[in-house]
Amino acid sequence: MLRKLLTQTSSRRLLSSAVPPLFSKPSISPFSSLSSSPEPPSSESNTVEQPGTAISVHRSALYNPPDHSHESTPDSELVKHLKSVIKFRGGPISVAEYMEEVLTNPKAGFYMNRDVFGAQGDFITSPEVSQMFGEMIGVWTVCLWEQMGRPERVNLVELGPGRGTLMADLLRGTSKFRNFTESLHIHLVECSPALQKLQHQNLNCTDDESISEKKAISSLAGTPVHWHATLEEVPSGVPTIIIAHEFYDALPVHQFQKTSRGWCEKMVDVGEDSKFRFVLSPQPTPAALYLMKRCTWATPEEREKLEHVEISPKSMDLTQEMAKRIGSDGGGALIIDYGMNAIISDSLQAIRKHKFVNILDDPGSADLSAYVDFPSIKHSAEEASENVSVHGPMTQSQFLGSLGINFRVDALLQNCNDEQAESLRAGYWQLVGDGEAPFWEGPDEQTPIGMGTRYLATAIVNKNQGIPAPFQ
Ligand code: SAH
Repeated sequence: MLRKLLTQTSSRRLLSSAVPPLFSKPSISPFSSLSSSPEPPSSESNTVEQPGTAISVHRSALYNPPDHSHESTPDSELVKHLKSVIKFRGGPISVAEYMEEVLTNPKAGFYMNRDVFGAQGDFITSPEVSQMFGEMIGVWTVCLWEQMGRPERVNLVELGPGRGTLMADLLRGTSKFRNFTESLHIHLVECSPALQKLQHQNLNCTDDESISEKKAISSLAGTPVHWHATLEEVPSGVPTIIIAHEFYDALPVHQFQKTSRGWCEKMVDVGEDSKFRFVLSPQPTPAALYLMKRCTWATPEEREKLEHVEISPKSMDLTQEMAKRIGSDGGGALIIDYGMNAIISDSLQAIRKHKFVNILDDPGSADLSAYVDFPSIKHSAEEASENVSVHGPMTQSQFLGSLGINFRVDALLQNCNDEQAESLRAGYWQLVGDGEAPFWEGPDEQTPIGMGTRYLATAIVNKNQGIPAPFQ
């Protein structure tokens, strides 16, 4: 099946006619203070992404020490807002609340008003690195649709589609599978009006008015597209395939620290110097309930070593919602993100213009993201529905390799010029590199840091469908 898919997947950004389709701080009582890509080509023409001239940073190297520089600038709207929340609440807010405001505050959140991706933006993601990423997700999606018994109607949901590049590549790549594309209703879950507009453009939704109605037709495959702010808004009762690429890492996390008083929560406060600072709660907070729950899924050895823990209740709740849908309506979800197959200690980081910066510095101007806790996804899904099974995680390198990305790159390399070939190879190695690239000869010394082992893939599927590719 995989082989057949790979030989028939269509090419898009690259060489569409020529290539054999794809393959061709002092404490304030009671709280104690703490020290503190290339642009996607615009059409289906025979263009290849040009290698970027700027260095692009993806967000997986989260343990890099941040730059602690503080510049004194006038408070932004978001800073004023956060300070007033802390003031009127009469005390600090959780790291989760801070993160949520910083990323998705309707007026000034990091994602809300602009394109944050690529060389000109703040960070780079796999779909922006190479068209092959979205194409391989397309292969995975068609395989699942086959296992689902080729339903005539499927809701294909993407959580946090960014520029819409992954979905556009998926649709172009699968366009030869008419039965598949004709079954699709696309539902994009996106909080940012600015990014919704970009998605509308990149999916070639021709009617400009349609974005305000939150529904359009993508001329890439003649597919209806709908926009929603949350997964709950997506209609249920229809077999559903959900893609979440670099979505979970943007969901708010609570941070806890073990102290002589028990597990205290790390909070964000305003110091006497009027700057944000971290403090510790005097006693356990309500979010500790989730901490306790998470700890029941840890091994005794893991529990013993814990000093700091990061928990994302929003991720647990989202996973439960996904699992319930998949359990009752059929289908599956693919989650790819950087993270660990273990409880997470302290991974939250801020990235601005491809550099790691202080989390508390000029909030709203830098991305905040945290490692994804994959065991928590597995347990949340299994707890929510008896009808689902969870597979993986496996590394992105294994995932893309087993789906056949090496055949795809070879096919594309048959029909391109030297510059295009260089771009393709660099993209390939960025996606699968980091020492674990399968099935293909090693890179030369110039290879950029890979996303192959830091990013993990996991799938949640309805049990009736068997084990999804490539987790067999
Ligand atoms: N999947 C894309 C973008 C990843 S960045 C890619 O790989 O390139 C995270 C995306 O999720 C952005 O589109 C952002 O606007 C969206 N997002 C973040 N938090 C969200 C939330 N709470 N609800 C809906 N969308 C959110």
